[in-house]
Amino acid sequence: MDFTITEEQQLLKKNIGDFARQELAPLVREVDEKEGFSWEIWRKLASIGILGLCGPEKYGGEGVTSLLTQVMVIEELARYDFSSAGNLTSNWALIRRLNEDGNEEHKARYLERLCNGEIVGSFAQTEPDSGSDVASLRTTARLEDGYYIINGDKCFVTQAGEAEFTMVAARTGQEKSKSVISMFLVEKDRPGYILGQKEAKLGFRGSTTRSLAFNDCKVPASNLLGQEGKGLKSALRGLANGRLLTAAQALGQAQAALDASIKYSKERVQFGRPIGNFQLIQGMLADMAIGLESARWLTYYASWLRDNDKPFAIYSSMAKTLATDTAMKAAVDAVQIFGGYGFMRDQPVESIMRNVKITQIYEGTNQIQRLIIARELLGEKKSFRELYGQN
Ligand SMILES: Cc1cc2nc3c(=O)[nH]c(=O)nc-3n(C[C@H](O)[C@H](O)[C@H](O)COP(=O)(O)OP(=O)(O)OC[C@H]3O[C@@H](n4cnc5c(N)ncnc54)[C@H](O)[C@@H]3O)c2cc1C
Repeated sequence: MDFTITEEQQLLKKNIGDFARQELAPLVREVDEKEGFSWEIWRKLASIGILGLCGPEKYGGEGVTSLLTQVMVIEELARYDFSSAGNLTSNWALIRRLNEDGNEEHKARYLERLCNGEIVGSFAQTEPDSGSDVASLRTTARLEDGYYIINGDKCFVTQAGEAEFTMVAARTGQEKSKSVISMFLVEKDRPGYILGQKEAKLGFRGSTTRSLAFNDCKVPASNLLGQEGKGLKSALRGLANGRLLTAAQALGQAQAALDASIKYSKERVQFGRPIGNFQLIQGMLADMAIGLESARWLTYYASWLRDNDKPFAIYSSMAKTLATDTAMKAAVDAVQIFGGYGFMRDQPVESIMRNVKITQIYEGTNQIQRLIIARELLGEKKSFRELYGQN
């Protein structure tokens, strides 16, 4: 068994960490307070060529297909700037989807600009009455005279306000099954594309989240992404990758919680001794490190499986669940170690607690991940794993 991380991966991870600590970390608090997507940060990320890391070289990307490398980049970025790591994960998901399912015209229209940071896009699948149960979504797309007419409501759309286009999941047939769900590219200036209010959020505040409505929104038939009826299947296939990148976001924040806790435990003196001398504090530090290392290596292992063309979906669900639950616990313990100061907005740990919560919810909630894992263990054929992505 070889656990070696290549020199190239180590160097990339170090460079991303140095960059994020020096260039992004000083801006994070202000972005969190203002609550919204920061083009300033996005341009900084563009300047180091990271926005198109997984994009094809033909369209200005770096052509890095290794998921393990991508995971390490997201992890290190999330250590210093959680929102950027979340936003970058979304950007890469759009790039991957366009590259896999888009025709040459779609790619030419968007890929280069997503890779160089000129534009951002968004992805709209969730609806007010359709979250975990994705196949129940109600938005419809009706083909008429060479155009699809889209009607429906979406919610929780990341970067909908800034996005040049949205990838929209809509039903193109009457049946209840997921095989009538298709994906469309909808430009922001189409009549009937209605932007909702910006949501006020607990964490992940360096992104904007809005609802979207489509009211007889007409797009050319050529805006269909991939084949009709294959849109959801294709999106769900990408989820196994996305879950590992979500695990990576959580790992970065867990590392930040541990870093801050170690430092504070050495500095804070009570009863005449640094609190790090007390065994109950030591226990929390040790548990954080144990959880973090376990989650990190499961995430790396699942990514390695994917990079070596081995079945990895179930490990991806396990890693997502372990890493995000571990990070949530580490964040809560870090606040505890900081005592009353941990509850204050000017300390580093309260925002970790607010940010990390979303990693247990998006990219398939941890309850859904546990169902996928359990049904796989029980060998059920008509199972969640079919619905929620199987490689
Ligand atoms: C900040 C943020 C950004 C997001 N960005 C996007 C985006 O860009 N695009 C997009 O399309 N969506 C996005 N989402 C939506 C996100 O993917 C959903 O919130 C998530 O899938 C859960 O759906 P829901 O919120 O409707 O919860 P529900 O599905 O209603 O779940 C509620 C609770 O019930 C549990 N539950 C549901 N079904 C079961 C079951 N069968 N067994 C056991 N427990 C169950 C869940 O785990 C959860 O605890 C975003 C959400 C947030 C908060």
